[in-house]
Order: sequence, then C-alpha cells, then structure tokens
Amino acid sequence: MPELLLVKNLRKYFPRGRKLLRAVDNVSFSIDPGETLGLVGESGSGKSTLGRTVLRLLEPNDGEIIFDGIDIRRLKGDDLRQIRMFMQIIFQDPLASLNPHMTIGQAIEDPLIIHNIGTKEQRRRAVMELLDIVGIGREFIDSFPHEFSGGQQQRVGIARALALNPKFIVCDEPVSSLDVSIGAQIVSLLYELKRQFKLSYLFISHDLAVVKYLSDKVAVMYLGTFVELAPKEELYGNPLHPYTRALLASVPKMPKNGGRQRKFPALKGEIPSSVDLPSGCRFQSRCEYVMDICRREEPIFREVSPGHFVSCHLV
Ligand code: SF4
Repeated sequence: MPELLLVKNLRKYFPRGRKLLRAVDNVSFSIDPGETLGLVGESGSGKSTLGRTVLRLLEPNDGEIIFDGIDIRRLKGDDLRQIRMFMQIIFQDPLASLNPHMTIGQAIEDPLIIHNIGTKEQRRRAVMELLDIVGIGREFIDSFPHEFSGGQQQRVGIARALALNPKFIVCDEPVSSLDVSIGAQIVSLLYELKRQFKLSYLFISHDLAVVKYLSDKVAVMYLGTFVELAPKEELYGNPLHPYTRALLASVPKMPKNGGRQRKFPALKGEIPSSVDLPSGCRFQSRCEYVMDICRREEPIFREVSPGHFVSCHLV
C-alpha cells in the first residue's frame, strides 16, 4: 500500500541574528494509511516545529512533503486549502485554540463553513454527531469553552479536527496539559477514533508510555533531526541510540518491563541550542560513549535492520 505521507529531507530554519536556528534539519519519514508515527524527544528538539511544517502551517526551507501522492509544497491558494481538509491538527492547549466568543457548536461548525460544506441544518446535525462521537454529548452544543474542563475542551478540539473527515492528524502534545487520568481518557479516545475512522497520526509527546500505547512506529528527535526510528516493539525492546536509551531510562515503569527500571545511563545535562550545532554528532556533549570520531564526523542515519534506522558511530 503506498504511504499516505512521505517526507523527504525536510528543513525548517529560523534566523537568529546572523545565525540560523535549525529547528528541523534534514528529516525524512513516511506514514502509511491508518498508521501512527510517535515522535518523542525533549522540549527544544524540534517536534512541534516538525508537525507544523509538515502541514505547511510553517513554510519549510527545503525538502518534499508528499501527501496522498500530491507534492503539497507546490500547492497554493484553493488547492492548498482543499488538501488541508484532509490534514488536521490537535493542539497542546485546548483553551487557547478555541475562540472564547464562539460556542463549542460554532467552533466545530467553523471549518465546515470555511469549506462551504452542507446547509445550516446539515452542519448542525454533523456537529451534534461529532459531539456524541467525542463523548461530550449534543446537549452541550450551545455552551462556551470556559464552561468545560481541560479534558472536555480537548474533546472539542478533537471534534473540530474531525469535522472535515481528515485522513491525517498531527496530535501536538494533546495530553501534556491535562492531569494523568483525564489524559488517559483522551488517549483512549484518540486510539478508538483512529480505529473507527482509519486515521493516521503524527503523535507528538515527551511521554514515552503514551507514545508506546498509541504508535505503530516511533521516531526519536534530538536537536532538529531524527536519531532513531523503528517499529514500536523494536524501539522499546532494542533501543540502540544512547539518547533513546537515556530517555527510556527516565521512564520509571514500562508496562512490558514488569515495572523494572532499565539499566541504561540516565540523561545528563540540558539540551543545547540548535543555533550553534557542534561538528560531528549532535549528542556528543551528553553522551557517555563519546569517541574521537563522534567529534569529527556526523553519524549517518542508516537502516540497521528492517525498518530500524539509527545514527550513531557505535552501532
Ligand atoms: Fe554517542 Fe558518538 Fe553515538 Fe553520538 S555517535 S551518540 S557521541 S557514541
């Protein structure tokens, strides 16, 4: 089956004085129909910028984004608007993403109006169905966002993302502002919707346990680039990059690990800036295993077993 999304050599830089912040630096991946790619890494690794650049909410500096066989970097105006129907986003902060002056019914109806879909009556029916689907209930259609809890507001955000029948959704840290039990309910809802509507997700999170639950394959991002990408079971069962291992070491209990702490070195120090990248490996300042070659040569991101890619001179 051809991939739904193919991203090749994507770059997104921001000017910082005379220098460049390399937020996304030569990233390539694909997502099949119905597949979820989990994206993990610390704050500042470039995850959210990657998600927004894939949707062209931020304009890439370079690279290809092929969605459903269409090179979306070539699209403008109406053509871009049309394809965006099928590519949606759920934001981290649900309240900030909702207009406080709109009822939740109006917020969910808005994309349907923008794309000129249905009559007023048909749209209202569609909104009521969406409210049922996300577990809010149609009786709340005329309520305002501030009347809801954070979890319910995120359900509204999900209903709005679903309104145009998308094929692909970027979930940008959708549960990180929620408490654990509410977040778990949202994750279950996303899992169920994926199954029901055969959705593909790019699921961005710093929570490795949540990513493990939802994802089919997982990418680990560090300073703007992928350092490891593998099918879920392979990444959690046989992590190869020292950064991936350090992230896993920081997770207190992985369910399949029987609650045992992994014996990998923990992550040291802070993530450096993406403005002054070192020559050689980007992880060298925090790596326990750093060698001379790591300071000289940037390791190549290469496939070491089927579907398992890693960039490290040790591997
Ligand atoms: Fe560590 Fe060297 Fe591998 Fe980078 S290339 S992660 S510094 S061992």
